[in-house]
Parts: sequence; structure tokens; C-alpha cells
Amino acid sequence: MTDVGTRIGVYIHIPFCIRKCAYCDFYSLPSGDVPKRFVGALIREIGMAAERFARANVSTIYIGGGTPSLLKPEDLDGIIHAVRGGFDVDGDCELTLEANPGTIDADKLIAYSRAGVNRLSIGAQASQDRLLALLGRIHRWDDVTRAVNDARRAGIDNLSVDLIYAIPTQTLNDWRDSLNRVVGLDACHVSCYELTLEPGTVMYNTYKPIDESVALAMQSDTLRILGGAGISRYEISNYAKPGKVSRHNVGYWLRRPYLGFGPGAHSLWGAERFANPSNLDEWLGGIESGEAAWSITETLTRSDAAFETMMLGLRMVKGVSLPLFQSEYGATPFSLWGGALEEMRRVGWMDWGAERIWLTPLGLDVHNAVCGRLL
Ligand code: SF4
Repeated sequence: MTDVGTRIGVYIHIPFCIRKCAYCDFYSLPSGDVPKRFVGALIREIGMAAERFARANVSTIYIGGGTPSLLKPEDLDGIIHAVRGGFDVDGDCELTLEANPGTIDADKLIAYSRAGVNRLSIGAQASQDRLLALLGRIHRWDDVTRAVNDARRAGIDNLSVDLIYAIPTQTLNDWRDSLNRVVGLDACHVSCYELTLEPGTVMYNTYKPIDESVALAMQSDTLRILGGAGISRYEISNYAKPGKVSRHNVGYWLRRPYLGFGPGAHSLWGAERFANPSNLDEWLGGIESGEAAWSITETLTRSDAAFETMMLGLRMVKGVSLPLFQSEYGATPFSLWGGALEEMRRVGWMDWGAERIWLTPLGLDVHNAVCGRLL
């Protein structure tokens, strides 16, 4: 059970975007701004949670979307104020905001910084304008460099950049150029996601997936180019300079408790999982009628939680702590999955020592199959 004083993460979901990207299958609504009614409901939801989950220590706040950088600075300030008013927020709280480079300027970033944002996650995706257009992004590469410079001038130097590989028509040289340019921006964190063409998206009906051998070559270039710049892989898709991992996301992978606000946001509290309705009107209705929006509740068994600890922890290069696993579940991974673990070690997917169990680079590439063996 989660105790009073537990350190938690807070996730705030802003589901609005200027327009839908051609590859996106997330829940997002077209809008040029974030409606006041939505901001008011979010603040109310945070207040309701503060009553219910009082006295948790918030060590990270992550404002994601959608496009959170559509928020007016005064609205962002109100939302952060609500979190600070309802919870005990650590003095060194990591406060990340996801930014679309096409929606920020110098003044906005100064105001965001004053509101408490100390980490920016910039959705760059590619350094070629033709690929950005193909993806349906609203920005160009120049907007990315401008955003990085403006963020630094505003005092936000903990900068993460998102890139996408395996984009149809993207060449190996395109990908190397994207990586090199991000290195040139001196980003301290990079997330690299492989594009999958999802049914229902514009790109699904227009393009075929890139050749698997090219995608694999892009992965190995990622390790080589980022690694060579001192930006090391610490999770399947995430790379960071020393001390610059995303503390918020590491919290998810360590299965620490978190509270999610906004439509579609999830929460984990002890053995309980909550999920807000993904539909904006349904979520708004729940909040405005004074009911908690955490509508779907799942109570996890001990063995569900042990599986999740392995599934999430094995996403990280350093893997899962064996002493912590044992103290949490009164069993070792070997007593629960011995045969499967031995087999995965034999084929080179996994290894372990006295303190930790982890996936090899080969195992990280087939993480889904690893989890399948543990079910
Ligand atoms: S900005 Fe992000 S959430 Fe919005 S449509 Fe594009 S990919 Fe989807």
C-alpha cells in the first residue's frame, strides 16, 4: 500500500493539438488553444485528488499531450499552482512540459520558466523539412533550433528532443543527419521512437512500412552516434547524458506511484490502477458534477504487480534490482520464472548478477517477446 509521505509523480494531460499529425493515433482534439473550461476542470480535478490522496510528496510533474505548449502561461501557472497548493511538492521537483516547436516563442518560454518549468521535451521528430511535412507536423527544423535557443535564454537548459525513425522514404543518411543535428544542439536527453503505421491514420493508408533491415541499421546508428556524444541509452527508446535521465519516466519504470489528471490519464496508487475516461466530454462531465473522474479501477494482485515490476524494469538498461524485488514480493524472479529466465539467458536476451537482472541489447530489441515469456 502507498503510505503517507510517499514520493509520487504527477502527470497532466492536455489533449489539444493545432491539427492531427499524419501518423498520430493518440486521443487528441483539434484546437488552436486550450479552452478555459478545460483548465478550470483540470484545476478542480487536482483539488479533488489532493483531498483524496493528501500528503503525498510530488517529486516530478510531467505535462504531456497532445500539445501542452498551447497552454497560455497564466493557465499553466494556475495548473502548477493547484498542484503546489494540494500536495507537498519537492523543492527540486522535475517539471517537464512537452513542447511542439511550432507553438512556442521566447516570451512564452520565459513565462513557462517563471511558472516553474525546468525541463522541456521538444517534439523535433526529424531534421528534414520534407519528412516533417510528410509526418504532417506543423513545424520546420528551424523552429526546433529556435526553440532550443529560446529555452536556454529563458533559463531552461534541461532539454530533451524527440526523434522518429523508420519514416517511409527516410534514408539512413537522413537519420544520421537528424541525430548529428540533435547532438549539435547539445541536448542532454534524446528519445528515439520507431514509427509504426497505425490503422486509422493518414499515413497508414498512404505508405508502406520501411524495410526492416534499414530500421535495424538506424537503431545501430542511434547507439553509435548518441553514444559517441556521451548520450547513453538507459531505456529501450531513451538516451541521456550522465544525471539527465527523465526522473518522471524512470518513476514509471520503477513502478512508483503516480497520479494522472485530464482525459485518458492513468494513475497507480498502491495496488490500485485508475484510468480517466479518454473522452473529453465524459471527463468534463465527471469533474463538473463533482465526482472523481477515476472511473475504471483495477486492483492488482501481488503476482500482477510482480509481473509489472519485471515488464517495466526490464525496459531499462540497468534492469531490475533483485534485493528490492525480493523485499517487495517475498520471492525472487528465479523462483517465479526460473525456466523462462534460464532459456532467455541461453539465447542471449538476458543476464544477471548478484544485485540485478537485465536485458542485453538483443533482449531490449525484443522486449515484447521477453514479456510474453513471463506471462
Ligand atoms: S502533436 Fe503529438 S499528439 Fe498532437 S497530433 Fe501530432 S503526434 Fe498527435
